[in-house]
Amino acid sequence: MRFVLASNNAHKLEEFREILAGSGWTVLSQKEAGIAVDPEENGSTFEENSLIKARAACAASGLPAIADDSGLTVSALNGEPGIRSARYGGPGLTDAGRYRLLLERMKDVEDRRAAFVCCISCVFPDGRELTARGECAGRILREPEGDGGFGYDPVFWCDDLGKSLGTALPEEKNGVSHRGRALRAMYALLNDHLRERNGGRAE
Ligand code: IMP
Repeated sequence: MRFVLASNNAHKLEEFREILAGSGWTVLSQKEAGIAVDPEENGSTFEENSLIKARAACAASGLPAIADDSGLTVSALNGEPGIRSARYGGPGLTDAGRYRLLLERMKDVEDRRAAFVCCISCVFPDGRELTARGECAGRILREPEGDGGFGYDPVFWCDDLGKSLGTALPEEKNGVSHRGRALRAMYALLNDHLRERNGGRAE
């Protein structure tokens, strides 16, 4: 089975392909599927935004489409930056600019609890929709540690790994990350779903 990934992010395409390697399923980029959709992400939750992207890519390509939406939720900031993680602080900021802004806003805050969240949706041409969610719990550091990963990784202490995501190897991060967990949950959902539909065969 072929899916189109509703994202222009090469890093995400790589992660999806790694986790689905050996599944017999092929993940196409938007370019490979001959589409270039970039719908407005005007939902109010990670779930809604992932569905908006998957529906648009499915409608444009005629293929089953997968999309994810992710971000960092900080307890003491009432869940911010949340669905606005990529745009936190407005346009023009780099990843480092955004995490520095976060550190500044957390300067006098004792409660450092935070979690990365990822929702993945799969939409089929006949209208069926599946959604899976993954979380990665941790806390916001006082200073960045490491320069690995991307986004807020250097300021996120990952409880499962016992270290900053900025110092984690890609395979360590994939094993516990919100995206890895959501993708593995989606893989299981899809397997069940396709098996039911095909009378025992997950194809
Ligand atoms: P989107 O899912 O492409 O909308 O991106 C959400 C934003 O959340 C990214 O631009 C990052 O700022 C942040 N984010 C999502 N996942 C991660 C991660 O694994 N590490 C660090 N930051 C992340």
